[in-house]
Amino acid sequence: MAQQDGPHRAKKSLGQNFLTDPNICRKIVDALLPAPGDYIIEIGPGQGALTEHLVETGARRLRVVEMDDGLAERLEERWPELDVVRADALKFPWADLNGTGPCKIIGNLPYNVGSKLIWDIVSRVETLERAVFMVQHEVALRLTAEPGTKAFGGLTAWVRNFCDTRYLFKVPPAVFRPRPKVDSAVVRFDPLPLADRPTDPDRLAGLIKLLFQQRRKQISTILKKRMTLEVEQWFRDEGVSPSARPENLTPTQFRTLSLIY
Ligand code: SAM
Repeated sequence: MAQQDGPHRAKKSLGQNFLTDPNICRKIVDALLPAPGDYIIEIGPGQGALTEHLVETGARRLRVVEMDDGLAERLEERWPELDVVRADALKFPWADLNGTGPCKIIGNLPYNVGSKLIWDIVSRVETLERAVFMVQHEVALRLTAEPGTKAFGGLTAWVRNFCDTRYLFKVPPAVFRPRPKVDSAVVRFDPLPLADRPTDPDRLAGLIKLLFQQRRKQISTILKKRMTLEVEQWFRDEGVSPSARPENLTPTQFRTLSLIY
């Protein structure tokens, strides 16, 4: 198919807010600490604002996953060497990356799917070396929240069982076109050693969902029907009060409790 002519009309349904400030784009790409020889995957390259800088890093392999066919076509024409995957990143087989060696993942993520994508990627890609994602500012606060704070939620408990996270910087609406209504922020993800990650992610996900569906209640109330001697002992050993709320547990405590509840 021939390249479309004229400017691209941003699609709200695909969260298309394009970055227009090259300095910010470079800063985001630099946060990935790209090196020649890297395998880098970008989610939602759009009009190539980040891709342009990624191409210059000398990455051994650069793959982009874009759902908008028109934009994917333009990217293929501009950089014929680019590995453009036309796909919904939510359906991308992330675990397949485990067979292709270490990789780094980056993206200015569409707001409506950012949290879900991060949930999947950190838990499925065991060969992840580092990831850098731009998300809504509020989501960035959740991803980097400490236990005991209001921003600590199910996403925090899950992600931090797989990665350390770091809030890097805020990005104002003025540097996007069209402008989003809210601030954005960039977060870096550094995976934990494999030995420290959950051995039973499904049980962990189950516990996190159960507890955060009723986050205002005390943990002992939510787990009333599951209060075995072993679970009672766990509270004593961990020094956790049964009246604690879900956000008071540390990521590691979610993991150990998930194996016995
Ligand atoms: N990286 C570009 C930039 O910073 O200017 C575009 C970022 S824009 C916020 C999000 C991009 O993700 C858009 O290009 C959009 O078409 C694409 N996108 C939206 N949903 C997607 C999905 N489920 N899978 C893959 N790409 C998606």
